[in-house]
Amino acid sequence: MKFVTYRLKTEERPYQMGILNDEMVYDLAALITEANDPCLNALNSHPDYFYRTLPADFQAVEEKLTTLQLGDGFLLSEVKLGPVVTAPEKIICIGTNYKDHVIEMGHEMPLYPVLFSKFSNALIGTEDVIEGRGKTEALDYEVELAVVIGKQATEVTEADAFDYVLGYTIANDTSARDLQKRTPQWLQGKSLDRSTPVGPYLLTKAELPDPGMLNIQSFVNGELRQTSNTNQLIFSIAHLIAFISDLITLAPGDIILTGTPAGVGFARTPKALLKDGDRVQMTIDQLGELNNTVKRSR
Ligand code: MG
Repeated sequence: MKFVTYRLKTEERPYQMGILNDEMVYDLAALITEANDPCLNALNSHPDYFYRTLPADFQAVEEKLTTLQLGDGFLLSEVKLGPVVTAPEKIICIGTNYKDHVIEMGHEMPLYPVLFSKFSNALIGTEDVIEGRGKTEALDYEVELAVVIGKQATEVTEADAFDYVLGYTIANDTSARDLQKRTPQWLQGKSLDRSTPVGPYLLTKAELPDPGMLNIQSFVNGELRQTSNTNQLIFSIAHLIAFISDLITLAPGDIILTGTPAGVGFARTPKALLKDGDRVQMTIDQLGELNNTVKRSR
């Protein structure tokens, strides 16, 4: 099942939860109301609450949802998609998690996963403008597989890790290299307002049982910049969930960005950082396309 947050292009209002099916978006609240099913009624359809109030047995809910008659929906062209999670409790990012990227950036091979964070202020959806160029002269792209957590996870084992996953999406961990590198902590270069696209949709793990063998690519103005496969991750998704949850309880809706492969603009010769008007396209097998344009906003 594919979940989205969306609003009609003709309306300026907060995003609401939807289901994407065959290029059509169906309102989740309307489906739940129509179904009048106790199992589904437990689901809060507001994006900020949807993820945080997911029933522990989400699989049962998903199975119910898949049986519903979808009724009237909206064409994808009629809606604006938002970030798949609008206000996660945590966004945890993994640095230096593809060997070729570690080498191109001149980092040491990590003995432990490198963790940093972003905040919800950074999140945008597909087709939103990537902002932040007013604060940096070195804005870069990083395509990443993003994992969305489905239930509270404390000290989980690698063997059990996928029980805690809701699904997957694409993220662009845009990075202001000048701000990132001027101090030892990377945060200031990683969480500029409206800088980080996440989407276009969340694909639940029922439809993607093995995220460890996915082609992952990025393009700028149609030119291939990054190409790899998630089988090249240094620390696997299961290892990351076990490692993080040993230290920090993961909550439903939390997003983990799992790292980017080689080919970022900063490491190219000559450097190929993002300019105003650049079109950034990212793809991962089964997860669609994340498309954004860069523009200086202030
Ligand atoms: Mg990254």
